[in-house]
Amino acid sequence: MTQLQATPAALYPLDDALGSVALVQHVGDDKMIVNAARVSFGGDSDAPLSARDEKLIAYLLRHQHGSPFEHNLITFKVVCPVFVDRQMVRHRVGVSKNEVSGRYVEVQERLYTPVLFRKQAPSNRQASVPDDGTLDQQAAAAAWENAWRASSAAYQQLLGLGVTREQARGVLPQAMYTESYYTFNVRSLLHFLSLRDHEGAQYETRQYAHAMRALAQPLFPVTFAAWEALEGRPER
Ligand SMILES: Cc1cc2nc3c(=O)[nH]c(=O)nc-3n(C[C@H](O)[C@H](O)[C@H](O)COP(=O)(O)OP(=O)(O)OC[C@H]3O[C@@H](n4cnc5c(N)ncnc54)[C@H](O)[C@@H]3O)c2cc1C
Repeated sequence: MTQLQATPAALYPLDDALGSVALVQHVGDDKMIVNAARVSFGGDSDAPLSARDEKLIAYLLRHQHGSPFEHNLITFKVVCPVFVDRQMVRHRVGVSKNEVSGRYVEVQERLYTPVLFRKQAPSNRQASVPDDGTLDQQAAAAAWENAWRASSAAYQQLLGLGVTREQARGVLPQAMYTESYYTFNVRSLLHFLSLRDHEGAQYETRQYAHAMRALAQPLFPVTFAAWEALEGRPER
């Protein structure tokens, strides 16, 4: 059963009204996961989800019986900065993506601008820490804004000169928003969330992962509850 969202419910992970995650459609439910598992011994049925079924879902997750969680799909429309998208596309298994083409259309000039800049973490070379008051937020914002103005002007100049869109886009920054349809199954989504709705992930990417989790959780409530218990992850 495909559920199309006529008006997609959208969340705004970076609180700027530009970046968003919307649920486009989904197929399947917790019962489908149970039926996929029980078909191995002819036990699939139309009966409503029972307490026994709920235990089975938890068992499957605990013992990494992954394939019953693949008979469903969840499609999101994701509008995110290019640097977030670069992390999302690293998830190769059970994830489908189609993205707006900067060759086909002029890139929409939508820029992500951090409200607050963070500092480099002293010990973890990959991580950031909140500003302890020693970061010149104004100077950082000005540098960001100046870089954006210069690259936007160069993009428009190149197009004005007749340069092809596929080359002109090369001057645009990683903070530009891009938009894609991403389709996961529950197995690939939970794997993605384990890694990206996690304190080890970059803050901005984590906000996107958390929004996807919030949209998907009501569609598969038993599965998400079992996964959260297994991972020791209460709702943030
Ligand atoms: C906090 C964090 C930091 C990261 N830092 C870096 C970094 O510095 N540089 C960098 O390049 N990447 C980095 N990554 C990306 C990371 O290495 C993975 O590419 C990404 O998280 C996708 O995970 P995955 O491969 O498990 O997912 P998927 O590609 O969706 O794969 C899912 C699962 O399928 C199996 N699988 C997939 N492909 C293969 C294969 N070829 N062979 C065997 N098994 C396979 C594995 O079990 C895998 O877990 C980082 C990721 C995180 C979360």
